[in-house]
Amino acid sequence: MLRKIFIANRGEIAVRIIRACAEMGIRSVAIYSEADRFALHVKKADESYCIGSEPMSCYLNIHALVDLALATGCDAVHPGYGFLSENAQFARACKERGLIFIGPEPEVIHRMGDKTEARQAMIAAGIPVTPGSDGNLHSVNEALQVAEKIGYPVMLKATSGGGGRGIRRCDNAEELTRNYDRVISEATKAFGSADVFLEKCIVNPKHIEVQVLADHHGSVIHLYERDCSIQRRNQKLIEIAPSPQLDEAQRQYIGGLAVIAAKSVGYTNAGTVEFLLDDSGRFYFMEMNTRVQVEHTITETITGVDIVEEQIRIAAGLPLRFRQDEIVRRGYAIQFRVNAEDPKNNFLPSFGRISRYYAPGGPGVRTDTAIYTGYEIPPFYDSMVAKVIVSALTWEDAIKRGQRTLRDMGLFGIKTTIPYYLKILKHPQFRIGKFNTGFVEQNPNLVNYSDKPRPEVLASVIAAVVASHTGL
Ligand code: ADP
Ligand code: ADP
Ligand code: MG
Repeated sequence: MLRKIFIANRGEIAVRIIRACAEMGIRSVAIYSEADRFALHVKKADESYCIGSEPMSCYLNIHALVDLALATGCDAVHPGYGFLSENAQFARACKERGLIFIGPEPEVIHRMGDKTEARQAMIAAGIPVTPGSDGNLHSVNEALQVAEKIGYPVMLKATSGGGGRGIRRCDNAEELTRNYDRVISEATKAFGSADVFLEKCIVNPKHIEVQVLADHHGSVIHLYERDCSIQRRNQKLIEIAPSPQLDEAQRQYIGGLAVIAAKSVGYTNAGTVEFLLDDSGRFYFMEMNTRVQVEHTITETITGVDIVEEQIRIAAGLPLRFRQDEIVRRGYAIQFRVNAEDPKNNFLPSFGRISRYYAPGGPGVRTDTAIYTGYEIPPFYDSMVAKVIVSALTWEDAIKRGQRTLRDMGLFGIKTTIPYYLKILKHPQFRIGKFNTGFVEQNPNLVNYSDKPRPEVLASVIAAVVASHTGL
């Protein structure tokens, strides 16, 4: 088994990995930027090292991180999500210097991280993909020709994109012409690559993704699917496992497809195969994420499998402990990404000091977060500050538990998406489990909630009343 793991990440996912290490008797090494000096992962790891003053780039410095991992005596590196997690160069640098990278082989990361190559690989494996361009586009004229052939609306996408960025829907030739250079410049800035491609836009699809685990001994299994259709601007907000929108036959079919997809590219470790589901019940491969996902938590909740622990075991060369028929699923789990944003103000980021935080609790509740009372959220990173996961045996009960839990959570000092989620939980379409990726846009009125007086305000009111009666 591994002895010491270097965590090339920050925030809640670093804390999540530290927890897995602690349970497995593995030492953990955390890193932090100066801006992250007071971050929770720094306090929780067995050892923590400051890696610089540049808030973002220090977490992306491949050679410095590999050197530090070796200098601190680590035998493996866990990249988490975001940052270097899907960077094949980083995985290769680890491997070349004798460190185990907790993820698939560098070649597989490279191939699946390139969305056009991934599409080609899936077509070769017989997996349905959306109609689209053969590889990357070379000019706006080529884009217009391809779009004419597959029919509008089309999606113009950055080949190395991620995190919901570098994607534009184009409804006609004029929009495609207008967006072409825009997406290229966005892709260059965000991902360091100007490559773009086209695929048919599936109108108001469901986003269904399948969690897979693959060991180094030829076993590949899936842990069922997640429904991530509740999105804003192609970014996930609420995720559900299993999808309330699939029947059992569809569930078996999509799980099987994901296993074929993973096997066909020699995949190892944990990964996610993302699909779109259209109104006629057809699935299309969209992309594969070669890392642990933000929403791995809900799969853990319904299956009881600790995905981060399995990642570590697989990386250590151990065979999978479960056969497909031993994976049992129970009930429903919902994850809410609590973002430091103001929904009423076009989801503007709302960083600052958390004046008070009370974690929700009770049955069927899990919180994965790196915040605490007094913590100042640095403005340099992702706005997601907590993940609240609830579970229950039925969909209806999971919704009720979600309502109770989000109200149970006390998070003061910043604006968050919590009140917005409470509105979504009341929506009839959500309650009957029928929604698609257009839900947020189709329901702009959900930001019209009233901000209830907070306990802090009430406390001062009560103090004033008490004072007036006691004459103090
Ligand atoms: P998930 O697929 O796990 O739901 P997201 O798409 O929400 O993950 O991305 C998780 C984090 O990783 C976000 O902070 C996102 O901005 C970042 N991220 C994902 N893909 C990339 C990429 N290709 N380049 C840069 N950052 C990325
Ligand atoms: P990322 O790497 O940023 O996660 P994806 O390719 O997974 O990018 O797409 C993110 C989201 O964009 C999807 O969940 C979906 O809502 C939307 N999307 C992407 N491609 C299409 C498409 N061809 N048709 C309709 N929606 C799409
Ligand atoms: Mg995706």
